[in-house]
Amino acid sequence: MVKHHLPKTRTIVGGPHISSMAVETMQRFTEFDVAVVNEGESVLVNLLEALRKGVSLKSVNGILFRENHAVVTTPRAPIIDDLDNLPIPAWDLLKGFPDEFKPAIFDYPSGPVATIAASRGCPFHCKFCDTSTFGARVRAYSPEAVYSLMKHLKENYGIRHIMFVDDQFLASRIRTSKLCELLIENKLNMTWSCTARVDTAKPDVLKLMKKAGCWEISFGLESGSNDLLQKMDKLARIELSEQAVNWTHSAGIRCKGLFMLGYPGETMQTIEQTKAFLLRLPMTTMNLSKFTPHPGSPIYRDICGTNIKEDHWKKMNGMNFVWSLQGLTVEELDREYQYVLLSFYKQKRVMHKCAIMAVRYPIHILRFCIFGLGFVKAKLNSFKEGRRGVLIKTDHQNLDEGFTNKLTR
Ligand code: SF4
Repeated sequence: MVKHHLPKTRTIVGGPHISSMAVETMQRFTEFDVAVVNEGESVLVNLLEALRKGVSLKSVNGILFRENHAVVTTPRAPIIDDLDNLPIPAWDLLKGFPDEFKPAIFDYPSGPVATIAASRGCPFHCKFCDTSTFGARVRAYSPEAVYSLMKHLKENYGIRHIMFVDDQFLASRIRTSKLCELLIENKLNMTWSCTARVDTAKPDVLKLMKKAGCWEISFGLESGSNDLLQKMDKLARIELSEQAVNWTHSAGIRCKGLFMLGYPGETMQTIEQTKAFLLRLPMTTMNLSKFTPHPGSPIYRDICGTNIKEDHWKKMNGMNFVWSLQGLTVEELDREYQYVLLSFYKQKRVMHKCAIMAVRYPIHILRFCIFGLGFVKAKLNSFKEGRRGVLIKTDHQNLDEGFTNKLTR
């Protein structure tokens, strides 16, 4: 739409999709002029410099661009070894930051909230995961640098909660402990949450994390079936998951379980195992995604060309079953998806925790009500416009009009 309305605008794209399927994406979307693969910081600077000077883009490593209707790929750019050398992110350039950044309800105690990626890369190779942007080599900011970023966010933007978006926040016990000690010593008094593998959670570190303000840890538990975990190459077992969740709970940290439904090999039996598993874990919340063969993940290569039901990139977002299992239809999976979620959230223990959180932090109730009203309004509109309850407008013209209005404004 940018190209349609403002044809002279140069469009530059980046991120996981481009990093895993660069050529295919450029061939499919001719509206993209340049693609930056893998980490973008230094590549983008070099690219903008080349554009400004009007020199050939062939001199910029780590990009794809168009030349005479062909897509040209330049050699890979080196990965960034020392993250501490990166400048402080220009949060001031984010319009509306931090008030416009609103994570999911109940995902933080009280805002404003900001995210930090304290490390990059993951050495594991879970078959459903696309790690092509940051690769397998783990690189991290020093604990001192992470502490400085947190302090900067608190002092300059009033941030009260940090969401660490690292793949493996607990990958290094030494680094985590050092950061916690800095936070405790300097009394920064911020809350934070992170994501971790179950095999990296240890009781002594968890206790220290709690003292340093850790509010919630999300664990990629995926399934209640060891057989399925093995098929995913997850290198974890449910016994280990159970132990990590129990330790986190005992340390006084909220625990969120990240699960997936419909992975190749899923059966009614494994779904029942998952239901039983999540009922016996002291988790505070859970997320359930619908298995999506993300381009760039090993499983995508395995099943590509088999029965990917709808190879539609727009739908590959973890909220649609785009690949159908043998023996279970998409409709059955959708039904089970709701049963699994309901079986967890209708537990008295879980509802009680949500109620406590709502009383302690009423902003979430307010947001929930606003969201509820918006949902009802969108539903009514969909009936009025003949979409019979379907919320997403697929009519390109409607989107286009909305976009034009925005551009005009
Ligand atoms: S799922 Fe997590 S542990 Fe597995 S490869 Fe991806 S980031 Fe690494």
